[in-house]
Amino acid sequence: MTRDPRYDILFEPVRIGPHVARNRFYQVPHCNGMGHRDASALAAMRGMKAEGGWAVVCTEMVEIHHTADVSPYVELRLWSDHDIPMLARIAEKVHAHSSLAGIELCHSGYTASNLATREVPIAASPMPTASYFNDPVTARGMDREDIRNLRRAHRQAALRSKQAGFDLVYVYAGHGLGIFQHFLSRATNFRTDEYGGSLENRARLLREVIADTKDAVGDACAVPVRIAMHEFNGSAGLEPAEVEDAIAMMAELPDLWDLSLSDWSKDSQTSRFAEEGFQEPYIKGVKKLTTKPVVGVGRYTSPDAMVRVIRQGIMDMIGAARPSIADPFLPSKIEQGRLDDIRECIGCNVCVTHDFTMTPLRCTQNPSMGEEWRRGWHPEKIRPKEEDKHILVVGAGPAGLEAARALGQRGYQVTLADAAAEAGGRVARECRLPGLSAWSRVRDWRMLQINKMPNVSLYLESEMTPETIAELGADHVLLATGSEWLRDGTGRHFVHPCPAADSADVLTPDDIMAGRRPGSASVVLYDDDHYYMGGVLAELLAREDHAVTLVTPAAVASSYTKASLEQKAIQARLLKLGVRIIANHAVSAIARDHVTLDCVFTGEPVRLEAGACVLVTSRRPVDGLWHALEGQGVAASRAGDCFGPGTIAAAVHSGRKFAEAFGKPTPDFLDLPFRREVTALS
Ligand code: ADP
Ligand code: SF4
Repeated sequence: MTRDPRYDILFEPVRIGPHVARNRFYQVPHCNGMGHRDASALAAMRGMKAEGGWAVVCTEMVEIHHTADVSPYVELRLWSDHDIPMLARIAEKVHAHSSLAGIELCHSGYTASNLATREVPIAASPMPTASYFNDPVTARGMDREDIRNLRRAHRQAALRSKQAGFDLVYVYAGHGLGIFQHFLSRATNFRTDEYGGSLENRARLLREVIADTKDAVGDACAVPVRIAMHEFNGSAGLEPAEVEDAIAMMAELPDLWDLSLSDWSKDSQTSRFAEEGFQEPYIKGVKKLTTKPVVGVGRYTSPDAMVRVIRQGIMDMIGAARPSIADPFLPSKIEQGRLDDIRECIGCNVCVTHDFTMTPLRCTQNPSMGEEWRRGWHPEKIRPKEEDKHILVVGAGPAGLEAARALGQRGYQVTLADAAAEAGGRVARECRLPGLSAWSRVRDWRMLQINKMPNVSLYLESEMTPETIAELGADHVLLATGSEWLRDGTGRHFVHPCPAADSADVLTPDDIMAGRRPGSASVVLYDDDHYYMGGVLAELLAREDHAVTLVTPAAVASSYTKASLEQKAIQARLLKLGVRIIANHAVSAIARDHVTLDCVFTGEPVRLEAGACVLVTSRRPVDGLWHALEGQGVAASRAGDCFGPGTIAAAVHSGRKFAEAFGKPTPDFLDLPFRREVTALS
């Protein structure tokens, strides 16, 4: 297949300072929870993006100095020459596929609490540090010597980046995480010297550092600036008009403008809250200010949208973090005319949650993400089968679909059976909930792939039993039969069932997704799960005119979604819909016309009138078939929620893991199933 000429424009080369990018696909810097701890895994992941056709592949933020320490987050470091080989490995992997390697040098100012280094943080102006845990740390305001030292540190880091082989060396003023943004913004710069006050003064340090960096490495490296177009803080902070004025002042100074929103939760909005291209209104004024290439992001997965933003003069290169995570081969697939093979990002931010949990990056759509080096997985390739086998996969949810697809790719004969009338399992149900329609891509991409495979057959409305399994006579059975929500209220807070009157109207998420609704207008939704489901169902019921009270033992609604950057948006949406939120309480009893709540601190009971109660507490595996097969002499395994209920990402990964391992000897429980980077002590 060849590329559609409509997309030729995406494959035009773009000059960036002393370098030429081979096309317009630009993997902007993104965090990944691997950083300096998992250097080889990180380098392999970046290399995979280059292999997939991204002309520019960048690192995440790289701390330029030991006062830029953002621990406990695991980012990259360039504190001394010792860090150069690790960074050089990344540049080397990117260069191996003729792409340009970019490094995002970063000093995080008052957002670096220096918890590991124990240095007093430095900032444009003195203020408490901003951190996830509200650490008891205050940053000191920088004096002129500090500013000179910061410039020296940035210059030294730029020289080290050049030595490590990078082609693009960033000056970072984005996401509320870069100190040059803190100087630029009235929200964080209260100085009265020549670095504070007027926009010209607030922009002074940024301008100086761009010039320093150009001077240090401009002969060999391009110098992009990543800048926040909006801080969503009203006139108290940066707004597009003022940022455009700042850009106009130094329009030709850097070699590229990389535009973003601040903070990160505004920049990486999920599909629940923002559409593809959501940043266009904020960035569209920049191109007319500069002749330098402009990069923007907006979760672009559609080549038509990409062509449009280039033709409309909104940007020159298509920036992407999440679309490149979901499909490192997105550019190659457009180039080869394989559009329906693109694994589109669903905008769920599971990737982001793992930067927050300081664990290796993963992706709902791309189970190989983060596993390139550790397990040797490739997003596009898998080894062929060792011998002919027929595998029955029971359950066509995310786990079963991915297992069937990957086993099919290996060449096995696969029968995929599901009791339901449609494929997709939980994804088919959940994508009908408010804001989650893009999640159907998990099913749709796999179905498209499976439909192309003559060796994979899908049977719907086919409930499997031990008898039908025996009849089919497959060599191996994979049970991917999913999970169900508990009806008894056990979860994290109460591990024993919650007493409920027989007359009480109690529903689970499964009931609601199956179309059942509370019999009463007033509903308590008890969320002891803390991820998206409770908040989404509260939204659904509120939109259907129920009077909803969301009760949670946590301090906020959908508390885990802090890690997916959605919590504030979720709580704001619920409050606007009139949902009452009662935090720090757990449902301890359910009666026909009320529930009893216990304060999580004092245990004090509170009576709350309600005619129905929706319990979003925990799930248990649907594994009856697994147990029924025990002792029957059937070679069987489990994958996905039926083995351990978790995220959709975990289910997809589990299906892939089965397909990767099938045909290999089962490893001993005591053997580590993946590679690990271990510091060798001398
Ligand atoms: P996972 O997230 O692990 O993929 P899901 O809950 O999304 O799990 O999907 C499980 C699928 O398994 C559902 O579509 C369900 O209809 C199907 N299923 C469960 N038990 C059987 C069975 N005995 N025979 C066929 N399909 C089954
Ligand atoms: Fe997109 Fe979700 Fe994958 Fe992140 S985890 S890249 S948001 S599909």
